[in-house]
Amino acid sequence: MSVRASRVPMRCVSLCALLAAAAISACSGGSGSTAPNVIVLGIDGLDYNLTRELIEAGRLPNFKRLMDSGSFGPLETAVTPQSPVAWSNFITGMDSGGHGIFDFLHRDLEREPPLPFGWPYQSMTKETPVGRSLTLGGWYFPLSGGNIQLARYGTPFWQHLADAGISSTLVRMPANFPPVGIGDRELSGMGTPDLGGTPGEFTFFSTDRRQFMKSDVSGGHIYPADIIDGVFNGTLYALTDNPFTVEEADAVGADFEVFIDPDNPVAKIVIGDQELILQEGEWSPWVSADFELVPYVMSISGAVRFYLKSVRGDFGLYVTPIQIDPLNPGSAISHPDSFATELGNATGRYYTQEMPQDTKAIQWGVFDIDEFLTQAALTRAETTAQYKHLLESWSGGFLFSYFGSVDQVSHVMWGLTRDPDHPAYVAETHDPYSEVVPSLYAEFDDLVGYTLDRMSDDTLLVIMSDHGFGSWRRSFNLNTWLHKNGYMALQRRTRLPIREFFTGVDWGTTQAYSVGISALYLNLRGREPQGTVAPGDRDELLLQLERDLLATVDPLTGEPTVTRVFLRERDFHDRGNLEIGPDIIVGFAPGVRGSGNSALGGLTAEILKDNTDDWSGSHIWDPSAVPGVLLTSRALKRPASSLQNLAAALLTEYGIDGFPDGSTPVTIATN
Ligand SMILES: [Zn+2]
Repeated sequence: MSVRASRVPMRCVSLCALLAAAAISACSGGSGSTAPNVIVLGIDGLDYNLTRELIEAGRLPNFKRLMDSGSFGPLETAVTPQSPVAWSNFITGMDSGGHGIFDFLHRDLEREPPLPFGWPYQSMTKETPVGRSLTLGGWYFPLSGGNIQLARYGTPFWQHLADAGISSTLVRMPANFPPVGIGDRELSGMGTPDLGGTPGEFTFFSTDRRQFMKSDVSGGHIYPADIIDGVFNGTLYALTDNPFTVEEADAVGADFEVFIDPDNPVAKIVIGDQELILQEGEWSPWVSADFELVPYVMSISGAVRFYLKSVRGDFGLYVTPIQIDPLNPGSAISHPDSFATELGNATGRYYTQEMPQDTKAIQWGVFDIDEFLTQAALTRAETTAQYKHLLESWSGGFLFSYFGSVDQVSHVMWGLTRDPDHPAYVAETHDPYSEVVPSLYAEFDDLVGYTLDRMSDDTLLVIMSDHGFGSWRRSFNLNTWLHKNGYMALQRRTRLPIREFFTGVDWGTTQAYSVGISALYLNLRGREPQGTVAPGDRDELLLQLERDLLATVDPLTGEPTVTRVFLRERDFHDRGNLEIGPDIIVGFAPGVRGSGNSALGGLTAEILKDNTDDWSGSHIWDPSAVPGVLLTSRALKRPASSLQNLAAALLTEYGIDGFPDGSTPVTIATN
C-alpha cells in the first residue's frame, strides 16, 4: 500500500470576464486541423548577452537559424528576477500582486505559535493541516484535506488551450506542484519536494573526520562511516519525523550494506533485494528504497543513486536525495498520475525533485567541480532523453519542456569562470573550466537543431528563459543594513553576528525586517504580532526607506548597491494577492545580492562582504540588468517583450485573445 497525498485543487480564482471572452474568441480558432503546433523550450537562466555573444561568434548555429527565420531578442524578466516569481509571471500573465509569489521565501503570520516576523516558508507551496483522520492503534491515517497545496494563484495559460480543445503537455513547468491537472499531461518541476518533503537533501557517509565534523549542513546530511572487517552498515532516512505516529515521532529509515573489496577499489552495495558493484568514482543506476511507515501495512517507495566517491584511503559514499519514485509515486507529481510512470518506463527512472543539480554537495565540499559537473550532466541526460521521447510520440498541440541545468551550473560556475574579479576566483583552479558555461549553451543549440530537423514546417519553436545571469561578488545583509540605519533595534546584551531568526532583536522598537532574499517588511501595528509602525505612518516610512536604500554605497567600490526599489502598492499593478507580499522589494545593483544569512533573519557584523562561496553566479538584482531570452522560429503574430506578455502572444497564435498581458491591471478574487 502506498500513501497518496490527495490532490488539492488550486484555490478558486475568478477571471470570469476574461475567461468568457477567451472562450468566445477561442471557438473561432477551434481545434481543427488549422490549429498550429507550438513547442516551447524553457531554459532557466539562459542569459541574453552571452547568447548574443555566442551567436555572433558562430558557436550557436541552430539558434542562428531561428534568429534568421524568426526573431531573437531580450525578454524582460520579473520583479524580482527569482525563478518562482518569473515563471509565475509567464504562467499567469500577471505580476506578483495577482499570482502571489514575491520571493523564494514568504512569511506566515498566522501560524501558531506566532513569531514576531512570521514563520518563513517556501513561497510556491503551502502546507495545510491534515483534515479528518482515523486513529488506529498508535498510527493515524489522513482521510481528507491535503498536506501540500500550490500557492500560485491565477489561471494558467494552458486553461485557455484546454477550453479551445487544444492538447497540451507541460513537462516540469515551475511553480506547478501539485500539478493543476488542466493540461492533457503535466509533470511537476520546481517546487516538487524529495520523498522527505524537503527541496532535496543528499546523504554522505565518510571516514574523513573533517567531513562529518561539519555541523548543520543545510541541504544534506553527513554521517561518520564505521567500517568493521570491510563492511559498512548504513541507513538512509526519508523522514526524520514519521507523520503516521500519533505519539512520539520517529525516523523512517532504509538499511543497506557495503562490502569493500580488500584488494581492489571496488565495493558491493546491497539494498533490499538489489545488489550493486561499483568501482571507485562510479555512479550506480537508480535503485528503489522502501520505507515502512506502519510495519507490514504501509510503506512509501523512494529511488536513489549511489556514488562511490572513494574506497582507497578514506571511505566516501554519496547518496542522492531520496526521490519520489516515478515508477511508484506516492504523491501527485504528474497529471494523470500515470504520466510520471509512463516517462519512467520509456526512458528510465529519473530525478523527480526540483532543481536536482546538487549544488549543496559542492558547497559542502562533498563534490569537487568535476563531480558536480558529472552529476549535473546525469540530470541533463534524463531530461533530454525524456524530451526526445515526447517529441517523437507527440501528435501536435502545445508542448512545453523545462531545462534547469543552465541556471544551476551557472550559479556555481559563472563567477568562477567568467569574472576574474570574483573574490573566489583562482586562475589555476578555475581557468580549466572556462568553457563549461558556453559549452552548455552549445548543448542546447544541438537540442534546438535536433528539434528543427524533426518538426513540421508549420510548427512554431520558441526558446525562452526567465532571466539572465551575472557574477555575484558582494553579499548585502539587509537586516544588518536595517539595524545600522536605525530601523531595527537589538536588545541591550545582543552583539552581532546573529546567526538566524532574529535572536536578540528588540521587536518593541523595530520598524522593519527582512525575510527572503530581496524582501523588506515593516513591523506594522495590527499586522505583525509586535508591530510598532502605525498604519498612518506606513507610506512615509516606505519612502524614507527607499531614499536610504538608493543612497547606500559599497565602501569597497564606491558604487551604489541598490539601483531600484519597488514599493508594493506603487509598483505591482495586479491585485488579489498583494497582501501576501513584502512592503518593499529591493533591486540590488548587478554584482551585489541579498545574503542567504539575512534571508532567514541573520545579521552579520558588516553590511557588505565578499562572496567567497562556490555559489558564485546570480541573477537576483535590478531586473533591468538581467533580461531573459526569446528566440522564435518565425515572427510571432503579436510580438512579446516580457515574461508577462509572452503567454498572451502564444495564445494569439491559436487565435485565443484576452489573456492577461500586463497592459491592463487584473484583479482576481482574493483567495
Ligand atoms: Zn537561479
